[in-house]
Order: sequence, then C-alpha cells, then structure tokens
Amino acid sequence: MDCLFCKIIDGEIPSTKVYEDDVCYAFRDINPVAPTHILVIPKKHIDGLDACDEGDKEILSHILSVIKLIAREEKLTGGYRVISNVGEDGGQSVRHLHFHLIGGKKLGWNFD
Ligand code: IMP
Repeated sequence: MDCLFCKIIDGEIPSTKVYEDDVCYAFRDINPVAPTHILVIPKKHIDGLDACDEGDKEILSHILSVIKLIAREEKLTGGYRVISNVGEDGGQSVRHLHFHLIGGKKLGWNFD
C-alpha cells in the first residue's frame, strides 16, 4: 500500500520517534504548528476516524492513553489539544488515521 505513514512505521521514511509499542507509533510533525506537535498513529492501516469500526475500539482507547502519557513526558502541564482531521473538509491530508497532539503554548481557535 502506498501510504506515507505506513512507510514511516516501517522505517522506509525517516521520522523523529517519540514513542512506539505494538499498537501505535508517535513521531514529531514535520511542519509543527506549536512547540510540541506530535502525531500518534495506529500501526494497523486505517484510513481515518470515519473508517474505524467496533473492532478498532481497543486501538482507539489505547492511543488516547498513549497521548496522555506522551503529554506528561512532554511536560504539557498547562494543557494541550488533540485533533483528528477527517476527510477533505476536515483538512485531512494523509489517509492514515492520526491524532495530532499539540501544545507548549496557549492555543488559539481559528477556523478560516
Ligand atoms: P492532516 O493534515 O491532519 O492529515 O495531518 C497530516 C500531518 O502530517 C501534517 O501536519 C503534516 O505536517 C504531517 N506530515 C506530513 N508528512 C510528514 C512526514 O514525513 N513526517 C512528519 N510529519 C509529516
């Protein structure tokens, strides 16, 4: 499958790894929008949140707990934001489920 994030998981494309286990992989976004901008992705290829089904519940809950762990390691004590863009209108540019973990500054809320 020609998927950028699958290639990152496989090490075919380099990334700055933050965390890895059997279920998920986390790495720094190449184009950060804040001091901390990490992408957390499942190792299983899933197109996006809209493509998840009942069988993916464990993956999703695991990823959310990993995000909390990473946020603690990144010392995001003031808070942070978790985003998953879905589809074209949602701004999803990579069709492999991913959660943006963004923080390290006070975040605005702008939807132009
Ligand atoms: P999306 O727009 O929600 O799909 O997010 C995709 C994210 O992947 C964007 O924030 C990009 O900056 C990021 N990205 C694209 N290619 C790479 C890469 O090779 N390494 C790390 N991040 C990437």
